[in-house]
Amino acid sequence: MIVCKFGGSSLASGAQIRKSCSIFLADPDRRIMVVSAPGVRPDVPGDKKMTDLLIDLANVRWAGLEGNMELLAISDRLFSLVSELDLHPSIADQLLGEIARRSEETTVHHKIYRDGIVALGEAISARIVSEFLSSQGVKVSLVDPCEAGLILSYYSGLTQILPESYDNLSTLASRDELIVFPGFYGRTEEGNTITFSRGGSDISGAIVAAATSADLYENWTDMDHVYAANPLLINDPEPIKELSYREMRELAYIGFSIIHPEALEPLFSHRIPVRIANTDNPSAEGTMVLAERTHLDNVVTGIACSDDFCTINIRRVLLNQERGILLKILTVFNELDINVEHVPSGIDSLSVIVRGSEFSLEDELLLRNRLQIELGIDDLDVTRNLAIIMIVGEGMRDTVGVIARATNAIARENISIEVVLSDYHEISCIFMMSKYEMNRAMHGLYNEFFPRN
Ligand code: ASP
Repeated sequence: MIVCKFGGSSLASGAQIRKSCSIFLADPDRRIMVVSAPGVRPDVPGDKKMTDLLIDLANVRWAGLEGNMELLAISDRLFSLVSELDLHPSIADQLLGEIARRSEETTVHHKIYRDGIVALGEAISARIVSEFLSSQGVKVSLVDPCEAGLILSYYSGLTQILPESYDNLSTLASRDELIVFPGFYGRTEEGNTITFSRGGSDISGAIVAAATSADLYENWTDMDHVYAANPLLINDPEPIKELSYREMRELAYIGFSIIHPEALEPLFSHRIPVRIANTDNPSAEGTMVLAERTHLDNVVTGIACSDDFCTINIRRVLLNQERGILLKILTVFNELDINVEHVPSGIDSLSVIVRGSEFSLEDELLLRNRLQIELGIDDLDVTRNLAIIMIVGEGMRDTVGVIARATNAIARENISIEVVLSDYHEISCIFMMSKYEMNRAMHGLYNEFFPRN
């Protein structure tokens, strides 16, 4: 059985919905279709995702305004979808009525108010897709995640799945009819609708695939493959045919955003193979993401980068002999709510690596003061504007000289490496450098590991 998830670009217009539905129906193993909200139409200048239109509406309504302009934009979008699919306009009327009703609900919790409205983007897609399939004579059921028992909790900015969701959703596997399932939302134990973070329909798809023990989870998007490097930085990068879960996770850490990182956990733990495929080119092979790779053609599978890092560098004589000092330093970071990414250390020095966008000048001031007053650390400097480039590959561990090749490639570009990081498992190696040298380093590394004939 295949669970397939169609992203916003695959459902952005009537024409895209027709394509997605014909893909869904082309293979009888495809039993459950998880849908995102309609995405941006590339041929409509300034177009917005349905989710963004609903966020705009929720914001203005929360501020006490009418939101007529916002409702108009949503209504235009709904009526175009319905007419492009030759469906009855009363469907758009009913959906608009539901949006108006939700936007009139009162609660003191901003998140609950907002999520109740924003979740309607996926509910709208699911309704339109199931109406369209029914109009084609297909027997299909729309299953609402809240009613089916996708139970979520929300704590400290993170939406989490409660374990009973898997049992609740497992019954979907034995249903006779095809199922359309809206992504992105579920309900709390108290019965409030809440959403995952942006792009979260991938997570819903992964949960449904795991709960129903699917043989395959297909993620239909707008790219033929996952590529070995960001096509915006490297011209015509090599397509990746196969990735392991671990490689996908490492690449997703900085920049490979083809599948939501939180979708990986349910897939990993239930060992569900994933296929990334293109709705606009369904015959393209796509990229498989598997528990274990069957081919290891290239020692490096992909190269990811991000220019949003900085290091906090601490030095003190005999630092290595001070019991518990690392714990004390990291406790200060934790208490200031600064997320630590890596902690490379020397003998009398250590650096704490954080995301630049999550470490403001105010955070820096607070951190300096606390480390100085509480731990007597006064040799501390901060280096901003750093980039991380990460080479990733299951084959690296058992191949001699991969890191030497990488550092040589960077040296040939006359770039100084600030930090090198790799752990025992050696599935990836991180190089840090000035963000102004990232693009050159990327080209050097790409040409080294993916030479063009
Ligand atoms: N519609 C939501 C978003 O735009 C969720 C998704 O598409 O996966 O983020």
